[in-house]
Amino acid sequence: MKVIEHIKQSKSTVISFEILPPLKGKTINSIYDHLDPLMEFKPSFINVTYHRSEQVFKKKADGTFDKVEVRKRPGTVGICAAIMNHYKIDAVPHLICGGFSKQETESALIDLAFLGIDNVLVLRGDAAKNETLFEPEPNGNRYALDLLKQVVDLNNGIYLEEDIRDGSKTQFCIGIAGYPEKHFEAPNLQTDLQFIKRKTDAGADYITTQMFFDNKKYFEFVKSCRDLGIDVPIIPGLKPITSKKQLSVLPRTFHVDIPTALSTEILKCKTDADVALVGTEWLIDQSMELKKAGVPVLHYYTLGKPEVICNVVKKII
Ligand code: FAD
Repeated sequence: MKVIEHIKQSKSTVISFEILPPLKGKTINSIYDHLDPLMEFKPSFINVTYHRSEQVFKKKADGTFDKVEVRKRPGTVGICAAIMNHYKIDAVPHLICGGFSKQETESALIDLAFLGIDNVLVLRGDAAKNETLFEPEPNGNRYALDLLKQVVDLNNGIYLEEDIRDGSKTQFCIGIAGYPEKHFEAPNLQTDLQFIKRKTDAGADYITTQMFFDNKKYFEFVKSCRDLGIDVPIIPGLKPITSKKQLSVLPRTFHVDIPTALSTEILKCKTDADVALVGTEWLIDQSMELKKAGVPVLHYYTLGKPEVICNVVKKII
């Protein structure tokens, strides 16, 4: 079932989770071990992130280096199919522009449709590790908007090969990303919002936000979207802080602020177990307030911490 139908059919806030594919070399059981404890909360859907390959230098016996492409976390599509098969829960694969030509994207979409996966979250992806700015593949999509248009075309039976007539229409429900604290490359929030508007005008069904730790940022973001005429559901993305290191890693990686009240409490902690307790309480409060405000979904980034998420969700359902 489509994410948008889950939202429409539910009278109250639903729960969803996001997971990462395991590092290459692990089995699908590592995903089940991660998800099993979360199943008691009956998530409406589970997102699976996509990780592009990166170039690394491997030292050879003669002391010189070989540049090789490595994909550390493959398996997004397979994991989605496994989740749907194993748990009978809808899976949402993330699909990115980076590293894909339009032909490869089309083939991936056809695979997804054949597997009965009718949700995708379309994203640009970040620049490759060896690039300063994002560069699409030759004949690839440059912006999430372009990728979205490709999915919308396929939903209308329009394939890249112009000689395909009456091509079957895919049924993808399309999510996009939103940044309550602005995308880091955007000159300002208003410009960023204009691009979001272009995506919803082009057919995006809903927005999932970047993590945030201050609900005010989410509420202001929703208001700015509504003022611009963006009227699709806006799903808050939520993550617990579980270590002191994250106080600097999260702002650097995700370009989000950590409120003073939270960072002050975390800095007082002696161990990361204490930090996880503070992070859990903070996220419970955030979730309660968002639920009270009637958000459509509480979407949790589990990022290897299912037990913390369990402690949060137990308190709010
Ligand atoms: P875009 O919408 O293309 O925007 C990128 C930048 O370009 C923005 O600054 C925007 O303002 C600007 N822009 C947009 N359209 C135009 C235009 N037409 N002309 C000029 N400028 C424009 N990354 C992954 O690699 N894998 C994942 O699984 C993944 N999952 C994510 C899930 C969520 C919920 C979120 C919020 C992010 C996720 N990301 C993921 C990260 C995301 O790929 C990066 O943040 C990326 O830098 C931007 O993606 P986007 O889809 O927002 O890009």
